[in-house]
Amino acid sequence: MEGHTTTVYGPVASWRFGWSLGVDLILSTSVCSFNCVYCQLGPIQERTNERREFLPTERVLADLEAHAWQRSEIVTFAGSGEPTLASNLGSAIEGVARITHLPTLVLTNGTQLHDPAARADLLVADQVEIKLDAADEQTFQRVNRPVDGVTLAGIIESATTFRNEYSGHLSLQVMMLPMERDYLAGIVEHARRIAPDSISLTTPRRPRPSDWYLPSRGSHGDVPYPAKPMRQPTPEECVTLARRLATETKVEVWVSAGEKTIISP
Ligand code: SF4
Repeated sequence: MEGHTTTVYGPVASWRFGWSLGVDLILSTSVCSFNCVYCQLGPIQERTNERREFLPTERVLADLEAHAWQRSEIVTFAGSGEPTLASNLGSAIEGVARITHLPTLVLTNGTQLHDPAARADLLVADQVEIKLDAADEQTFQRVNRPVDGVTLAGIIESATTFRNEYSGHLSLQVMMLPMERDYLAGIVEHARRIAPDSISLTTPRRPRPSDWYLPSRGSHGDVPYPAKPMRQPTPEECVTLARRLATETKVEVWVSAGEKTIISP
């Protein structure tokens, strides 16, 4: 069984990316600038938008060397919160790529994209996926519950700046929640502005535990705390929304309808 003190976990099966090796640059608790209503980590323990080094890169690379990562297809930086809050993200990505020669992916909520140092860290990743769940500020505050001072408009502005600097694959991750269904027009508008290479339409598949539990960073299964399953759109609804999104943005949309389905514009 995987130890609970390692920064490297998995690989876990991802419907989008195949066997995904997780790298967690935070580890000791959950740390994020959001506190999303659907977060699989449960209520975020430390809510901050300040970058710092949680663990040295050498520690991450030592954990990697000790881990059976060889059947992985991609390395994903996500883990116990928002990976761009780790100020050594860039050196960790470079070190992991040097050892594994695998493609690297960062899942981010976009709240550090205003910072040139964070954007520089992300430039070394092969793929960056930015969360975009809400079409307007009010929904953004209700669904993502950011720390004070973070706005949807600010994130879209800095994501657009990042797009102009970044030549890797940029995707947007849109979480479909029942309350979001009427907001597709706004999402389309933001997506057109950011101009991603693809959009992933996801649903809250993992239950939200009532407390912090480290294995939930990569878990698809049971957690030892009460967990609230979230109401989900049906696969047919997902495909219908994905078609509309692809048509209106002219961008390829990935959606799970039992299996990975790619909807071309
Ligand atoms: S951005 Fe990710 S880690 Fe942070 S609260 Fe939302 S789902 Fe959880």
